[in-house]
Amino acid sequence: MSEDIPFDRSFDLVPGVVKEIAPGIRALCAGNASPFTFKGTVTYIVGRGHVAIIDPGPDDDKHVTALLDAVRNETVGHVLVTHTHRDHSPAVPRIVTATGAKTYGEGPHRASRPLNIGESNRLDAAADIDFRPDVALKDGEIVSGKGFTFEAIATPGHTANHMAFALKESNVLFSGDHVMGWSTSIVAPPDGAMSDYMNSLHKLTGRTEEIYFPGHGNPIQDAPRFVRSYIRHREGREESILHRLAKGEADIPTLVRAIYIGIDPRLVGAAGLSVLAHLEDLVARGVVATDGPPSIAGVYRFGA
Ligand SMILES: [Zn+2]
Repeated sequence: MSEDIPFDRSFDLVPGVVKEIAPGIRALCAGNASPFTFKGTVTYIVGRGHVAIIDPGPDDDKHVTALLDAVRNETVGHVLVTHTHRDHSPAVPRIVTATGAKTYGEGPHRASRPLNIGESNRLDAAADIDFRPDVALKDGEIVSGKGFTFEAIATPGHTANHMAFALKESNVLFSGDHVMGWSTSIVAPPDGAMSDYMNSLHKLTGRTEEIYFPGHGNPIQDAPRFVRSYIRHREGREESILHRLAKGEADIPTLVRAIYIGIDPRLVGAAGLSVLAHLEDLVARGVVATDGPPSIAGVYRFGA
């Protein structure tokens, strides 16, 4: 795939085994490995004695048990959720029942735009539509507990309700699925939106955090440089789409074949949605045209 990004596909966690990965930050990997989740969702525990949990993960018995074991004899006052995909938030109710923690997040799951006529949301199965945070956070809002202070950073794009959380005490960022070291993020309409996603990447380039802790994969060192490579990668993908359209109109399968050389067959569907996300953005900017609203079955050409 895209080797213009300095990916790190090593991984240091064993599912079910909690590990202190930085002073006051513990990580626990759920055993839900897949082509979309890498080695599994990483749940973070921040603090000692009084702790916050970030992304409790999937509703999986082993993971929930390991997470509750890890915080035994500690007070869990806060559960923060980066976004409402089924590998991140469905364990929340069981963690809340066991700990009495308050939940924080941007809001319930929602699509980035209304469905077009005749369009079905093929991403429904990936969403946790039950999550409702006790406290709905706005961009820039502070969540603090004993020993930790988080700044909520609205980072829509992967989902409309995605948030990253900056830990002020150690100047690190919990980046959820917005920025991950092992892979690009999936931006798939209608849940995701490319224009939002790019804005959310640019937003991070103005920040000071050097290390990111993502929802999947190892921590990202030198994160600002990594984010810049993410931005360049998307710009390159857009160029590839335009390059192909310069040769004549094309549908999405044709564009996927032209752009994603040697792609894992299991990821072709996701690649098509990612191309659709770019095309939606290009159509909105008047660079590319199609008949009717941009759709997965549409034919695309240069021009307004
Ligand atoms: Zn996700």
